[in-house]
Amino acid sequence: MDLTLILGPMKSGKTLELISRISPLKYMPVKFVLFQPERNVRDAEVQSRAGAMLSGRKVQSLKEALLEDWDVVGIDEVHMFSPEDVVVVEKLLQKKTRVIISGLDLDYKRKIFDTIVRLIELGPKEIIYKRAVCEKCLEYNGIYTQVFKNEEPVVEGPPSVVPDDGSYQYKPVCRECFIKS
Ligand SMILES: [Zn+2]
Repeated sequence: MDLTLILGPMKSGKTLELISRISPLKYMPVKFVLFQPERNVRDAEVQSRAGAMLSGRKVQSLKEALLEDWDVVGIDEVHMFSPEDVVVVEKLLQKKTRVIISGLDLDYKRKIFDTIVRLIELGPKEIIYKRAVCEKCLEYNGIYTQVFKNEEPVVEGPPSVVPDDGSYQYKPVCRECFIKS
């Protein structure tokens, strides 16, 4: 059925937006599920920084979404899934499943993730671009995610998906404050 993409930088409320769209389904006769990548070490449940929470399933591949029939499938942190997994999203849409997805659109070099490119190729019904407060100038216009190590911007070195174990800090920044390599 329909695909909704919720995109934006770190701390832009993407997960909160996803949860707010999935939560009402709890009270409806709708079979739904929420997936998140196993690589996400931040939480055991799908949780937004604002505190909203919904129980989700940690999976290595989205292929698990095809094991059962769902009316609605939510996916958080989709940029961490392999681009090949987007085939699963296409199959879900063909099965008339509604799919709501959130994730980073751009990596720390401002390059769009391959996974996001493939999702856009599926022709989403809507793409919601969220903004964050720029952590440099504190304006509400953060559109990029810069990676810092010891307060210095990292312009090359780490993989496009940086480990979320505290050794690097992710900060949303605006166009003016982003430091290019
Ligand atoms: Zn700024």
